[in-house]
Amino acid sequence: MQKITFAKGDGIGPEIMDATLKILNAAGARIEWEEIEVGEKVYLSGNTSGISAEAWDSLRRNRVFLKAPITTPQGSGYKSLNVTMRKTLGLYANVRPCKSFHPFVRTKHPQLDVVIIRENEEDLYAGIEHQQTDEVVQCLKIITRPGCEKIVRYAFEYARLYKRKKVSCLVKDNIMKLTDGLFHRVFKEIAAEYPDVESDSWIVDIGAARLSDTPEIFDVVVTPNLYGDVISDITAQISGSVGLAGSANIGESCAMFEAVHGSAPTIAGQNVANPSGLLRAACMMLNHIGQPDVAERVLNAWSCTIEEGIHTPDIYTEGISRVKVGTQDFADAIIERLGQKPKQLQSSEFARGVKLNVGAYHRRQPAQKVLKGVDIFVDWKGQNPEELADRMRKLDNEIKLTMITNRGVKVWPNGFSETFCTDHWRCRFEVENGHPADKRSIPAILSEAIAEGLDIIKTENLYEFDGVKGFSLGQGQ
Ligand code: NAD
Repeated sequence: MQKITFAKGDGIGPEIMDATLKILNAAGARIEWEEIEVGEKVYLSGNTSGISAEAWDSLRRNRVFLKAPITTPQGSGYKSLNVTMRKTLGLYANVRPCKSFHPFVRTKHPQLDVVIIRENEEDLYAGIEHQQTDEVVQCLKIITRPGCEKIVRYAFEYARLYKRKKVSCLVKDNIMKLTDGLFHRVFKEIAAEYPDVESDSWIVDIGAARLSDTPEIFDVVVTPNLYGDVISDITAQISGSVGLAGSANIGESCAMFEAVHGSAPTIAGQNVANPSGLLRAACMMLNHIGQPDVAERVLNAWSCTIEEGIHTPDIYTEGISRVKVGTQDFADAIIERLGQKPKQLQSSEFARGVKLNVGAYHRRQPAQKVLKGVDIFVDWKGQNPEELADRMRKLDNEIKLTMITNRGVKVWPNGFSETFCTDHWRCRFEVENGHPADKRSIPAILSEAIAEGLDIIKTENLYEFDGVKGFSLGQGQ
């Protein structure tokens, strides 16, 4: 018996969780269930995190969590509990297998069989946002070497374990050369350690277009958080219904299993929701806790039900389906078929019983880090960059003004009058002679700027790491 925490969530959550637990218990899952409350009710009781201290205790004690979808109330007073839980529990890998069930579930992509492995803790989901001027807000995109190494290695280990042929990396490093560039570089380094697994790389825009048009050319996809979020919903939807896909959030010591979809409040309480996403996630969980025999029994019965055309409304199609059933009747149909084997649908997908572990991250020898200058961001309501340059040049010391950009594009020196400018200016100061800059030069510039009445909103130091620039050029530089 293993103790597992579960939460019924919001919207369609309670209906699909009841159906899932009923099937798991009937299939002989060796689980003792412990329920916690998370989500809307907790948020609206005045707890803006959406989760109580007792619920955290249960999660940290049991380390495995089966979670129904929850509703995040609108408004800036609430943070997404899903993102908080993934990050707080260190669940770095989000694994989302998407598969077509042709000819039993209608889809334009009968060959679709793709596993999206989405980085789960970083990227724009760091949630670090600031308003800096009247006109400008920013969101920090954080990509780390440990984060990239863990997720990419996980993808290759997954491919090996599940006998998948290829891992594809989707990034936008033609634009984000440092952040997505690091993800891509780590991908290439780690791919070289797995010569038995093919690998390729795509710019995310054309990669996502091909994934939604010709998914059969992909096998395992590894990608940063935001792209993974978007493409996994698309891939689940084009397999037949977003209601079909389950997902695993895997960390070094904890794991959380949930459907890919949300709480679908518009169809809640009507007994029409498809419980398959949560049920398939529960099968991933059974595999994770060493009960692949039960996972296989459940998936076989599920496949038989789908093959026999017993379908919930989201996948019901005249001419393909036979009976339209509600959530609970669908669950009962699966229970009736426990012990049967499907005729066509392969269902041993998750039944490996092996827990993937990529091992701990080992920090490398630190690089030689040399200060080369500073970017100083200024809130300035003027329009002519020459005027700002005149004021900023008065601040020069051993580091000197070399460039001003607005929204990343160079406007000084030799800017174009056509370039639209906001009130958010970046002034780059650099050492001239290639020597390391003295750190004290930066506060000296800042205190001069304050004395000059300039509104400095932030600074970013410019470093070289082992002789390689750790900052991007200005556009047009
Ligand atoms: P959603 O995924 O909840 O639903 C979109 C639509 O997809 C529904 O209206 C429904 O037509 C269909 N659908 C989804 N699941 C289905 C199922 N099991 N069976 C049949 N049809 C299904 O997306 P949304 O409406 O944008 O989000 C609703 C709420 O869910 C929001 O508050 C959002 O924050 C939350 N959400 C939670 C999670 C999570 O808990 N992991 C994930 C995504 C969204």
